Amino acid sequence: FRAPAAAPLNVDHTGRPIRRRGLMLVLSSPSGAGKSTISRALLADDPDLRLSVSVTTRPPRAGEVDGRDYHFIAPERYHEMVARDELLEHARVFDNYYGTPRRAVEDELAAGRDVLFDIDWQGTQQLADRLPRDLVRVFILPPSKGELERRLRARAQDPDDVVARRMAKAADEMSHWAEYDYIVVNTDIDAAIARVRAILTAERLRRDRQPGLADFVNAMRDEG
Ligand code: 5GP
Repeated sequence: FRAPAAAPLNVDHTGRPIRRRGLMLVLSSPSGAGKSTISRALLADDPDLRLSVSVTTRPPRAGEVDGRDYHFIAPERYHEMVARDELLEHARVFDNYYGTPRRAVEDELAAGRDVLFDIDWQGTQQLADRLPRDLVRVFILPPSKGELERRLRARAQDPDDVVARRMAKAADEMSHWAEYDYIVVNTDIDAAIARVRAILTAERLRRDRQPGLADFVNAMRDEG
């Protein structure tokens, strides 16, 4: 027997999953703290977890794919989506606009899957106001300021002045750590991934997220 890599979910004796409500897992951090590495690792081995692909008005970076990393849209389209209430949350981050398309999230949750959000503190606050019951907020902290700077420079995807501004912004993002349910310090990336997985597993097993449990237990009782 080999335990699956994905976080285990409760199943009945026929192996069918016990009906549960999907949850919304938010990962926030200053850029450079390892958030995208952690999300990629979680998504790679867990088919019950889907990424919410945001819209953004910023141009794609090298290697980014439209529809996978973001939906890259024009500012006009963004403002139209806001006006039509097509975004679950939206915010200006740096000089660009970002938002979470509502429909995709609602579809995944309705299908019983969990949704992962890579969004900033502003978006997290909006989700907490609108959908507090389904929300699990995780904040990733870097081990030190020096290490954060080193990671941001090593990445070198952005021009120098942008890196400098992002470092200033990192302090701002980090000041919101106390608005999150869980805090993971990313000293070691594998340990950080394991911790976020553990959080996801525990949150999935919360009684109030498993409405199918009553039927499951009743069926056992009826068997005598
Ligand atoms: P980047 O431009 O480096 O991909 O993202 C910049 C910041 O915007 C990151 O902190 C990221 O989490 C945040 N972000 C990305 N998508 C969204 C979104 O849909 N809503 C909000 N509020 N923030 C987002």
